[in-house]
Parts: sequence; C-alpha cells; structure tokens
Amino acid sequence: REEEAKTAGIDKSAYRDVWVYIEMNEGQLRNVGLELLGEGRKLAEAMGQRLCGVLIGDNVEPVAKEAFAAGADAVYLVEGPEYAHYSPDAFTIACTDLIKTYKPSVFLLGATNDGRDLGPRVACRVETGLTADCTGLGIDEQTGLVAWTRPAFGGNIMATILCPEHRPQMGTVRPKVFKKPQPDYSRSGELIRVASKVRPTDIRTKLVDVIKVCTASCNLEEAEIIVSGGRGMCKPENFVLIEELADALGGAVGASRAAVDAGWKPALHQVGQTGKTVGPKIYFACGISGAIQHLAGMSSSDIVIAINKDADAPIFKVADYGIVGDVMEVLPILTEEFRKL
Ligand code: FAD
Repeated sequence: REEEAKTAGIDKSAYRDVWVYIEMNEGQLRNVGLELLGEGRKLAEAMGQRLCGVLIGDNVEPVAKEAFAAGADAVYLVEGPEYAHYSPDAFTIACTDLIKTYKPSVFLLGATNDGRDLGPRVACRVETGLTADCTGLGIDEQTGLVAWTRPAFGGNIMATILCPEHRPQMGTVRPKVFKKPQPDYSRSGELIRVASKVRPTDIRTKLVDVIKVCTASCNLEEAEIIVSGGRGMCKPENFVLIEELADALGGAVGASRAAVDAGWKPALHQVGQTGKTVGPKIYFACGISGAIQHLAGMSSSDIVIAINKDADAPIFKVADYGIVGDVMEVLPILTEEFRKL
C-alpha cells in the first residue's frame, strides 16, 4: 500500500476535515453518530479542521439540526427513496462518491452492523485502510495523525494504529465508547446537498422483509439500565430473575460470555470484548466474576452494582455498590422493591 501510494502520488494536503457517518435506523437517528460527532469535534479542533456529518436517507434532512447541535460545522446530505433502508450497494456508492469529490482527512463510522459492513466496502473503493472496532481515538503527537486504539491479540494488548500514507484515515468505533455531547440547538451549520448517483441497476439486493429478533430487552447499546447475568445464574431457567428485574426497571438484559457459551442467552446479549460495548447509567452484574474481557465491555457504565456470593470476586473492584449474596435470593427481593417504586 505504501509503495502504491507513493507511485499514485497521493496529495495528502488535498484532504481536509473530519467526517462522521450519521447512522439512521428505520428513520431514527442512532446515538453512535452523536457520540462520534462529540469525539470528532475534539479531533477536528486539534487538527484545525471542520467537523462534517454525512447523512444519507429518505427525507432525513430534519436530522441535520441534531448534527449541528452535536457539533457539526457542515452536513453532507444525500437523499432518495433508494436510501430508505440500509442498502450495501446504494450507501457504498454514496459514501465513495462523497469521499472522492470532497476528500475528507478522517472518516469515522460506528462499529454497528451497518457500519461494519459499510466501512470496509468504502475503504476498499477509495483505496485506504480501515481500523475496525476502535475503543479510543486521539492525535499522535509526533505525526499529527489520528491514533486509533483497539484491542489486539485476544485483548492482551491495546494497539495504536496510524494511517500515514493513505486518505482518508478511516475507522469504525464501538458505540457507547464515548458519551453523547450535550446538544446546543443555538448552533447551525452549512447544509451541503449532494445529488444521488445511484442508478436502479446498481442495487443488487432487495429488502424483502424486516424480522425483528431484537426487542427492547436486547437493545443493549441504547439501554440506560442493563441487568446482566453470568455463570452464577447456574441454569438457563434462572435467567427469568434477570429478566424480571430488567422489566421492573425498564432495562435491557445482558449476559457474560460464559452464560452465552452455555446457551442460556443468545449472543446478541453478550457484553464484553467479543460482545457489545455498553455504557448505561446503571449496570447490574449478577453472578459475574468480572473477568477483564467482560469489564472491557461495561467499564464505561456510570454506576455498577454487583451481586456475587464470593466477596473476593474481581467485579467488586469496579463496582460502586456490591451485594455479597446468592443471586437467587437477592434478585427477587430487588425486583419486588423496585416494582413498588
Ligand atoms: P465465572 O467467571 O465462572 O464467574 C461466575 C461468578 O458467579 C463467580 O464469581 C461466582 O462467585 C459467582 N456465583 C456463582 N454462583 C452464584 C450465586 N448463586 N450467587 C451469586 N454469585 C454466584 N467474557 C465476557 O463476559 N464477554 C466477552 O466478550 C468475553 N470475550 C472473551 C474473549 C476472549 C479472547 C477470551 C479469552 C475470553 C473472553 N471472555 C468474555 C470470557 C472471560 O474470560 C470469562 O471467562 C467470562 O467473562 C466469565 O463469565 P462469568 O463471570 O459469567 O463466569
């Protein structure tokens, strides 16, 4: 790649601005776009460049004001019925065209299902690299490049990755790694409408139906309260205690990998390094020991409440409140008390 870049003579100075892909889901703005705008603002200011949002959808223009309120100086808007749902072909063409025309220096996407699909497709077409699944962003002091941080070698090291030769510097970032900025609705910015270049023949896949397997109880990334169970729940039937407490609190249900591997909960509930990264206001860890790989997914929770019968369990080191006891006894009492509120 380095050699190719030199021979291709990429003029890096032609690439400016920090871009954030503002992901929509069924017409709704996903929080990850706002989280990345908040963090992108810091990068843009450190680089002395503008922060721009990329908004693609059908009738999504009203969302631009949310992007401005979250810190965007400009929003590139591509609209059309072909963008009503995420389509790999249509969205790849739109993003690739925007990058080739306007040349951003940095392009951030959420490490969501859509972002993980779209990011690599676009990176490949614009001939740059992509750092996937980042958990940290910063500026490398020596080079001024974006320093992308992500776990590597099974989570044993945190790797910092730079993209010196190609542009844009691209990466996907896990949802909930950064907090959403406080919106400032007095802010406004430049709305740049870009005509869609997608032709009907470009779209090779057709959305036939949407079958929802994920209800509120597994929408972990957006949840403000999560009740998670681990191997200490002892058997799958006992997860009903977790579900009841989550239900009483209007929260989502999480699980450790041990509980998922045992088949007690589907993988989409898994929290941790190889599961989801979450950042709720309150995280209950029930019968979870607190292995480093689990903590990697929940340590940015505001308040952690741990229930474990082993007073020396490592989870108590990160817990704000700890209950040493049997989950089978403690959980029903908590549920009953919260239901009274
Ligand atoms: P355990 O470690 O077995 O802990 C069970 C806990 O329950 C114990 O502390 C015990 O005291 C307590 N307990 C038992 N009975 C009761 C009771 N009746 N009442 C109260 N407490 C009780 N793990 C993840 O969670 N997410 C990941 O994404 C993840 N990714 C990984 C990636 C890699 C590469 C590797 C190597 C591992 C990964 N793991 C992950 C696994 C991780 O290392 C741990 O094995 C796992 O988190 C343990 O799950 P646990 O805490 O439920 O089980």
